[in-house]
Amino acid sequence: MARKKFIAGNWKMNTSLDEARALAKGLVDIAGKITDVDIAVCPPYTNLLAVGEIIKGSSIKLGAQDVHWEAKGAYTGKISCAMLKSVGVTYVIIGHSEQRSYFNETDETVNKKTKAALAAGLLPIVCVGETLAERKAGKLTEVVGRQVKGAFAGIPVSDALKCTIAYEPVWAIGTGEVATPQQANEAHQFIRSVLVSVYDKTTADSMRIQYGGSMKPDNAKDLLALSDVDGGLIGGAALKAGDFLGIIKPV
Ligand code: PEP
Repeated sequence: MARKKFIAGNWKMNTSLDEARALAKGLVDIAGKITDVDIAVCPPYTNLLAVGEIIKGSSIKLGAQDVHWEAKGAYTGKISCAMLKSVGVTYVIIGHSEQRSYFNETDETVNKKTKAALAAGLLPIVCVGETLAERKAGKLTEVVGRQVKGAFAGIPVSDALKCTIAYEPVWAIGTGEVATPQQANEAHQFIRSVLVSVYDKTTADSMRIQYGGSMKPDNAKDLLALSDVDGGLIGGAALKAGDFLGIIKPV
């Protein structure tokens, strides 16, 4: 099953308006015509509109880093799916480990956000991954299996096919520590086996699974060559246009 690679940049809580504009312009210049790989950038909410204007007409799509599941109302500090749609957002990251560890994200809220995003026509990037302690305790399959099943509970096949999963071992995020190709491929194959049990083999084979965790130009080629790695969710290296391009088109 040929799955088109998908590279998304998660800018996290970085970039002023000017910095975001400059980064987006740099990306459009060097990567804005690439079509054999799907590309998205996920700037902070405050920069979505400006970045969206700059990438408009290029092959780069706009993503957000989180969303709230409620449609509107008294949820101070939150942003709805419709608000994201209204500024041109296509993808939304859901369940990032920083959300899970700092802001009480649970499998249940990931599921609610994923359902709300799909209902609004957004394409979720659902993040899963184990901590170092969990991996050392031999709990990778228990934890990641629970996260995948929890995220997709009650979501029909037709909607699941619109989702990307990002496998992001927590111990590799922003640490410079990267999963070995073997560790990454094993985890991705395990996630695909969970998708077979939740859905079916055809669905599991169609869904893209990105790797995330200190992916950089110098390790991207080996990771992206793996049969079950369908792209990357990139943090630190997405903040420099040249590094991001080096991941999209590793030499
Ligand atoms: C991320 O936060 O999604 C991530 C993968 O970060 P980094 O590439 O910096 O490890």
